Amino acid sequence: MTDEVLTAATSIGDWLDSDVGGPLLRGLIAAGGGTAESLAPVRGLPLQQLIVLSQGAMPQTAVDDLVRQANGGVIPQSESIGGAEPTSAGRFAGKTVIVTGAASGIGRATAGRLAREGARVIATDISADRLAEFAASMPDADIVTVAGDVTTQESIDAIVAAAGGRIDALANVAGINDDFSPLGETSDAMWDRVIAVNVTGPFKLTRAVLPAMLTAGAGSIVNVASEAALRGSASGNAYTTSKHAVVGLTKSAAVMYGPKGLRVNAVAPGGVATGIPFPPNVSEYGQQRLGAFHGTMPGVATPEQLAASITFLLSDDGVNINGVVLASDGGWSAQ
Ligand code: NAD
Repeated sequence: MTDEVLTAATSIGDWLDSDVGGPLLRGLIAAGGGTAESLAPVRGLPLQQLIVLSQGAMPQTAVDDLVRQANGGVIPQSESIGGAEPTSAGRFAGKTVIVTGAASGIGRATAGRLAREGARVIATDISADRLAEFAASMPDADIVTVAGDVTTQESIDAIVAAAGGRIDALANVAGINDDFSPLGETSDAMWDRVIAVNVTGPFKLTRAVLPAMLTAGAGSIVNVASEAALRGSASGNAYTTSKHAVVGLTKSAAVMYGPKGLRVNAVAPGGVATGIPFPPNVSEYGQQRLGAFHGTMPGVATPEQLAASITFLLSDDGVNINGVVLASDGGWSAQ
């Protein structure tokens, strides 16, 4: 690995294995109080992803400086981060698709891919600033933004109104973490907010898009669950309960509306390199109890990899698939 040009698009694993990059990256991680071993699950991700993963702790200049140091003081031209994203041209041409949580992470990658594949995207998120920044990053795309909290009826009404009469598909992606608390430590506030955002929001928005889909006799809905929908060892009490509920929401609607031409499926991501925040005061006991299980995760995915799974189910390629929970986790759930 000594002669490869190291850039922000080079994988963390290749950086670590490089005679030049390895010591530099280890030094940077050590300066932040971490160890190279902690990077094991993210070896396959581009170096640039460290910025998102650090949740604001690492500035862009840290990655830029590292790349400069590895290349005699200059930043070499690099391929796009994560390589060229595959798209199926025109797969969503003429379709209107609603995406929640579209300002960040998996929702943003999904909304972006849908727009590149020809959809008119109704992109919605509680963060008006990040949503506007996303839409501005794709000036030629057909993106309508609706800033709002998916737990409020007012926002749900605004989202459906923005879509107009036609709604071909819906991706319920917005979600929040819990504090890893075991049941006995879970506060009412934590429970209520996690259930509201992760379950009640998708329920109410799905209910609101049904009339348009039933009139058309067609529609595809994808809910984002989690590894925490498949096992009890991925997150805390509130989040695990909420994501198991997402599976129930998915299967019930799939059975009820399958005969009417609708498909309702879920994707269960394992670890994904997004900036999804944790609330303050994460449970010490919960963190310690879950740590060993998290160590079995085969690796962390990019948001674009999740968008590939979500858009597959949203698209007509998923024609015979209804009521499934598709694990998109690099094989974690098979263990
Ligand atoms: P993220 O924080 O990057 O994106 C989530 C987005 O949802 C944010 O832009 C946030 O502003 C928005 N949001 C939060 N509350 C909202 C509300 N009340 N109304 C409207 N928008 C709201 O997180 P992400 O990692 O991209 O997560 C997306 C989904 O994937 C979530 O449902 C999450 O539970 C799930 N998931 C994530 C991971 C992971 O490792 N990142 C793993 C499994 C499942």
